Amino acid sequence: MRYISTRGAAPVLTFGEAMMTGLARDGGLYVPEAVQQFSRAEFAALAGRPYEEIAFAVMKPFMGDTFTDDEFRGLIQTAYQGFGHPARAPLKQLAPNHFLLELFHGPTLAFKDFAMQLIGQMMQASLSRSGQRITIVGATSGDTGSAAIEAFRGLANVDVFILYPHGRVSLVQRRQMTCPSESNVHALAMDGDFDACQARVKDMFNDFAFRDGVRLAGVNSINWARVLAQVVYYVSSALSLGAPHRAVSFTVPTGNFGDIFAGHIARAMGLPIEKLVIATNQNDILDRALRTGGYETDGVKPSISPSMDIQVSSNFERALFDAYDRDGAAVAALMAELKSGGFRISQGALQKLRDEFASGRCSEAETLATIKWTLAATGELLCPHGAVGVKVAEEHLGQTPMITLATAHPAKFPDAVETATGLRPALPRHMADLYERPERVTRVPDDLAALQTLIRERIAL
Ligand SMILES: *Cc1c(COP(=O)(O)O)cnc(C)c1O
Repeated sequence: MRYISTRGAAPVLTFGEAMMTGLARDGGLYVPEAVQQFSRAEFAALAGRPYEEIAFAVMKPFMGDTFTDDEFRGLIQTAYQGFGHPARAPLKQLAPNHFLLELFHGPTLAFKDFAMQLIGQMMQASLSRSGQRITIVGATSGDTGSAAIEAFRGLANVDVFILYPHGRVSLVQRRQMTCPSESNVHALAMDGDFDACQARVKDMFNDFAFRDGVRLAGVNSINWARVLAQVVYYVSSALSLGAPHRAVSFTVPTGNFGDIFAGHIARAMGLPIEKLVIATNQNDILDRALRTGGYETDGVKPSISPSMDIQVSSNFERALFDAYDRDGAAVAALMAELKSGGFRISQGALQKLRDEFASGRCSEAETLATIKWTLAATGELLCPHGAVGVKVAEEHLGQTPMITLATAHPAKFPDAVETATGLRPALPRHMADLYERPERVTRVPDDLAALQTLIRERIAL
């Protein structure tokens, strides 16, 4: 299988190359040239199988000969063995036709672990084969950074630099990034919001001399391998509720559009998904774009679901590419317009997006209220991101079973959960000393040249 850029002007790559490359050289994102179709019988054969087996079957057709079957099976086993639940992504029932997909049993308690743990294994396997070293630079609103550091700390051929917005991540998120003691881990607290962090990372990828000089690799959700790893739990949860013989719907708390785009891929593979609902917090650019056709940024408003405090939703470019009939030049033109604040989606593309996605937003007060009533009604303690999903899902319930993605553990956002319920969720036992460990972090300005100098100096050590 070959991978092409959403802007149509970058080299066509294999899966392994696309994973190592991250952002395409024309500024676009890699997508498969064609999505592998599964028959009903192929889906049906996976029902009731272990998560790891479903993961192998779903991902392997997208990967060409990057790994042998045995090698890839081994990488999957290692990636998920540290998860604190044998189902990996268990379903809980909230109401007669509403289910919660718990994606927070990985080592950093957020769904990012599903992709990051596997990418860590896959990158290490290909680097040890080639003997090369890479420098990973990522931007995070909190959870990507902690998941990346957890997946890459101590790996021999990798340095990992994570830029997070200073003062805007939760204490648990911050400590998961600043407490690991391995010398290949570099937590950078940047003055600015998440969009600024993400913009500096994109700048580094677009500076080809720097990019090639430090052998830059990306693990943000622009990396196709992350999207692919997330397709697996759409399939596993749908099978648990009767797919492929009956359809299911999903509601996905959304920031960078990576997680919900994985649902779009699952549907393109033939999984019967009726509704795919985008749930946003008060940073509702995606909900507004679908309602009005205008994709217009208007500044990030910090919220109690900080991992979704995003205005420039990078993976939305992948959805636009499909909605514009895979016209890379049209996508490149929209992205150029976005630099000056926004663009209008064409009528035809908007219709396609509306056929594929529904949407809704959830205010801060509604998020707290949802955490409160869900606990009272079901005993389930939601994190604020999951609560955004549950609130929006409630507005889209119908005949088809609804699966809402619970993207983080409540203990990752204890202040909001305590405000809503009076209960302070405890960290799982293996992390209980997180608040006592020493921190290691460098405060950095929102300045590309200064960041590049710091990275060059650190990897020269
Ligand atoms: C990253 C994150 C999201 C948003 O996921 P996207 O793939 O960026 O849409 C939602 N909830 C939590 C807890 C996250 O960490």
